[in-house]
Amino acid sequence: MNVIELDGSTGEGGGQILRTGLALSMCTGQPMLIQRIRAKRAKPGLMRQHLTCVQAAVAVCGARVEGAELGSQTVVFEPGAVRAGDYAFNVGTAGSCTLVLQTVLPALMLGAEPSRVSLSGGTHNPMAPPFHFLERSFAPLLRRLGVGLDLDLRRLGFYPAGGGEISAVVHPAAAGLQPFDLTDRGPLQEAYAECFAPALPSAVAARELAALSRALGWSGEQLRTPAVRQNEGPGNALMATLGYAHVNEVVTSFGEKGVRAEQVADALVQEIRAHQASEGALGQHLADQWMLPLALAVAARGGEASFTCTTMTDHATTNIGVIEQFLPVRFDVHSTGSCPRVRVIAGQATER
Ligand code: ATP
Repeated sequence: MNVIELDGSTGEGGGQILRTGLALSMCTGQPMLIQRIRAKRAKPGLMRQHLTCVQAAVAVCGARVEGAELGSQTVVFEPGAVRAGDYAFNVGTAGSCTLVLQTVLPALMLGAEPSRVSLSGGTHNPMAPPFHFLERSFAPLLRRLGVGLDLDLRRLGFYPAGGGEISAVVHPAAAGLQPFDLTDRGPLQEAYAECFAPALPSAVAARELAALSRALGWSGEQLRTPAVRQNEGPGNALMATLGYAHVNEVVTSFGEKGVRAEQVADALVQEIRAHQASEGALGQHLADQWMLPLALAVAARGGEASFTCTTMTDHATTNIGVIEQFLPVRFDVHSTGSCPRVRVIAGQATER
């Protein structure tokens, strides 16, 4: 079988190229050679989170691997058969465990049996999908493809302490993946904000929620302070959930030392306004993450499926390049009206 060669310095040049490569190598059985991993980052090569992704992929499909070491910029990955089962992966730092889950999820959702995955590390990291984003935005779309994904947050984990824990039960699509179009959000049905700020004075959460409420005119019923478990934190994630008829958007702003509560709220307000000013069905993060499962569904079923999004990021464009190297699909992106429309079309990928 042809070895797929990926250049980790192309486009966005970060860890997503590796994770998408691992996921699709497992799903298709095609071996992969990836070089210049995370070349565009200040500290290139495999960090703990990326190394855990490689190790998780090896565990799930019994792959032969070279270069699975911290700092490594080249990995050879020869996948074996995917095995459904019970798995536990520990990032060992505050690195994102949701990104580890997203690496093995595509292979497990094509498996013959359900799988259970326990993960520990960061659950709410800047620059990664927070747990609640996976639960409320990503998992419902997978369910519409036919895949069951039940997620449980056992403990919050923030940078730098980590120590978060999540678990996932993956039920493969019994009748195969069913692609669908998602070009319209539908009407807004609910909107609420939560502040997860364990081990911080309660005034921090109260000030963030109050500032958000003043800016957006949200009522007290739309503001929530979830209960904190023992030994969680310190951390601070202010999160808004916008529930539309066809899709949910979860937008997050992270507090840090030296940043005032009102600034954390203001950053979130700007993001919510930007999202609401666009008609794209998917927000920028959901768009780059949705491409892989949708492309797997289109590759399996034939035909095409499309979605609209608020904006096409470098992550999204780079992900398209990787997906087209593995799957017999082609992406067509064009802007009509106020937002980009992405079509995934079965057939041969375009030569690059
Ligand atoms: P690095 O950039 O250090 O290599 P990485 O491997 O952690 O980092 P990226 O390659 O940047 O990650 O990919 C990050 C992923 O996390 C992307 O899919 C992006 O859409 C997603 N993401 C980032 N921020 C959010 C957010 N606030 N909500 C949901 N998803 C997010």
